[in-house]
Amino acid sequence: MAFDSTYRPEEVERLWRERWEALGAFHAPDTASEPHFSVVIPPPNVTGVLHIGHALNSTLQDILVRWRRMQGRSVLWVPGTDHAGIATQNVVEKQLAAQGTDRHAIGREEFVRRVWQWKEESGGKILNQLQRLGCSCDWERERFTLDEGLSRAVREVFVALHAEGLIYRAERITNWCPRCHTALSDLEVENESTPGHLFHIRYPLAQGEGGIVVATTRPETILGDTAVAVHPEDERYRDLVGKELLLPVGPARRIPVVADSAVDPAFGTGALKITPAHDANDHETGQRHGLAAPKIMDESGRLTGDVGRYAGMERFAARKEILADLEERGLLVRREEYVVPLGHCYRCHCVVEPALSPQWFVSVKTLAEPAMAAVREKRTRIVPENWERTYFEWMENIRDWCISRQIWWGHQIPAWYCRDCNGERVRETTTTAATPGAVTESTLRIAVDATPIVGQERPERCPVCGGGNLVRDPDVLDTWFSSALWPFSTLGWPERTPLLASYYPTSVLVTSFDILFFWVARMMMMGIKFMGDVPFKDVYIHALVRDAEGNKMSKSRGNVIDPLGMMERYGTDACRFTLTALAAQGRDIKLAEERIAGYRNFVTKLWNASRLVSMNLEGHGDPTQPQPPLAAIEDRWMLSRLDGLVAKVNRSFEEYLFNEAASALYQFTWHEFCDWYLEMVKPRLGATDASGEAARATAVFVLRRVLALLHPIMPFVTEEIADRLPGGGRPLAVSAYPAPDERWVDPGAEAEMALVIEIVSAVRNIRGEMNIKSSLPVDLVLENVPAAVAAMLFREAPIVKRLTNAREIRVNEPGDPGESATAALSCGVLRLPLLGVVDFTAELRRLDKDIAKVDADAAFIEKKLGREDFVAHAPAAVVAKDRRRLEELLEKRALLAASRERVAGIVGGQGPA
Ligand SMILES: [Zn+2]
Ligand SMILES: [Zn+2]
Repeated sequence: MAFDSTYRPEEVERLWRERWEALGAFHAPDTASEPHFSVVIPPPNVTGVLHIGHALNSTLQDILVRWRRMQGRSVLWVPGTDHAGIATQNVVEKQLAAQGTDRHAIGREEFVRRVWQWKEESGGKILNQLQRLGCSCDWERERFTLDEGLSRAVREVFVALHAEGLIYRAERITNWCPRCHTALSDLEVENESTPGHLFHIRYPLAQGEGGIVVATTRPETILGDTAVAVHPEDERYRDLVGKELLLPVGPARRIPVVADSAVDPAFGTGALKITPAHDANDHETGQRHGLAAPKIMDESGRLTGDVGRYAGMERFAARKEILADLEERGLLVRREEYVVPLGHCYRCHCVVEPALSPQWFVSVKTLAEPAMAAVREKRTRIVPENWERTYFEWMENIRDWCISRQIWWGHQIPAWYCRDCNGERVRETTTTAATPGAVTESTLRIAVDATPIVGQERPERCPVCGGGNLVRDPDVLDTWFSSALWPFSTLGWPERTPLLASYYPTSVLVTSFDILFFWVARMMMMGIKFMGDVPFKDVYIHALVRDAEGNKMSKSRGNVIDPLGMMERYGTDACRFTLTALAAQGRDIKLAEERIAGYRNFVTKLWNASRLVSMNLEGHGDPTQPQPPLAAIEDRWMLSRLDGLVAKVNRSFEEYLFNEAASALYQFTWHEFCDWYLEMVKPRLGATDASGEAARATAVFVLRRVLALLHPIMPFVTEEIADRLPGGGRPLAVSAYPAPDERWVDPGAEAEMALVIEIVSAVRNIRGEMNIKSSLPVDLVLENVPAAVAAMLFREAPIVKRLTNAREIRVNEPGDPGESATAALSCGVLRLPLLGVVDFTAELRRLDKDIAKVDADAAFIEKKLGREDFVAHAPAAVVAKDRRRLEELLEKRALLAASRERVAGIVGGQGPA
């Protein structure tokens, strides 16, 4: 098939996606032959839209998957999405708000139905986008964390862990989001330090004069204080321990001064107010001293309970009022400037409120131990290795995992309560809405000491009283609970399916470090616990994609690079190749659109070179396979170099050195194959003799292997070219991946061609610097060359002459070549006689003119960059582009100046540039 003059990615990509699908190229057999290769995709949120991080993550997975598939392994790549509890619930809540209603008004059942409806209509778009990216997932095996099979796995795990006492219910201080109305795990809280105040407040003694000054950042919690604690050895307070203080605001209440060695006497005033229901440390202190834990804030962060006139106030409004009241009473001693460490909800960015509530927990210590051992014993290898330390640090300090969420979208906890047996411990409460017109919220409150009946299905009757008055726990599980089971639940667990037997443990998990704990560590714990083996043999952790200056990409900065737009503009292969080429281990990726544009040129180069080869084949019949021994040095050299490349690329993929594979492929294809080999064999390609036959056979053979090698990185253009070349076979996606073949290894040919390339490059450099047209013939003089090299040169003289347009090559001949340009070679000295070749005066004039032009351009940009208003107000990308341009100009100037110096040196100096 003829080649079009330009490559059109959009058409080609669509066509190949369809062909692969029709071929069932990515469908894994139920039963694998060994060795198998399996990967589960990190399931993107069902609300997700492909961003550059997904594009990187998925490209790297696809490279490994395509490469292993081509190596002939049974390959399974499971795609799917995560139901993303809070994120998805928020999307539908926003829709409801736009319609003037909310989830409480329509009720739980209807709300969940609407979320499903949203999921069917608009969710999971990202999977189509991954297909567009070329991901070779087994699309017939798509899973969803809330589908029937996975929900069953979730129930099974919950019930089993509960039976072992590893899931329990407890009242704990958790991070509460007053906006989302749910508890958050520590990992879902974003900590940010904000400038604020530390308020020094005097608590007067209940009897007598004096009192204690306490420092706090949250004065509204005074209303929940049940003690002030001091260190037992703190001289300042020793006499006060056991005495009573008055709350400085709110209803008149007396609280004791207690001694507790956990108090840090150096912090603040050394005296701590204790609010057991609203601070995790205070809760522990309260338990040590048997203090009450009154709640003074409701789910929405409004003050409630025994708080006097502050009842119903929003927490920050109450803070203001309380401070004003304290000031008026003279009890606000000091406002100290203070950087307050504040937790924010990762979903809505609301300030998180520590609050006491009954929650479900997984006791993780016993699960963490074997998960650490697996990494220590290298049953799971973390690549790059430095992440192991982070993994261990976190696992060693792991705390119990709060798995209940007070939302509706997710796996509802499989626990029921008997109303008859539990009495008041299970009751309905209603919260009157603060905003008029809004709905009154009715919530099922289940006290921490209520008795749950945990099971896969709703029990018919209460096992204690036999009654049927049962209610289900309203909470749902943390989204990460179901994703923790992903490597085995997607393969059919708890059924013992052939798929599970064949593909578990999976081969590698490709992920970024930010979900190492959310997800990777938990998959390790659950996999080992329920499958008796690690979920993956390798975990490859890739870098983050940042902008060209190394900043995080964000909407507010306006520096986001949208992969879909890039794929449209430059083609998917160019995007994939760029990400791969930049994916160096342990280094963040600095991405600029120009990089993608640059690699599009690589796609074009490959297309044009293939077109050239293809045109030269016309009228010669299908090329044969090259057979050793080959006569021509350039053929032997090319095949030997190719063999080195094959080994290098396979090794790089083996070791997750993606950028090294990409760089080797780029260098070989662009320079060695296109620039050198094709140029060297051009005269032979059309010849009808044996030499022509060998050149065509070699060119096509090398090109086909290069296409196969490149295929995992650039799947589309490689398929299209391979399909257009004569003698094509099966699509690359289902062809064999090249393996090294020692028949082609030829160090002698490599050494000889390295010499040719060195000399030709040196001559071309001189021609460039001295502005000598390639059509103008020159002589080459080589001096101080060892005898062995001289012999090589004698053999290769015809190629060197042709590629340099040299009339004559003189090696180690005595005599002065006269005025000449000189280059040092690894094997001697090259001289290029210039007399009669160069008009030195004209050359100096030209160089001076060029230098003046570059100087003017550089001065213009320098002036612009020197203007403060430009640097401050122009978009960062524009400023960065100017900076790069200036650098380029300065480099160019240095080159021109070097040329000038050289010419001036030959003619005896004509003043500096
Ligand atoms: Zn929130
Ligand atoms: Zn009962």
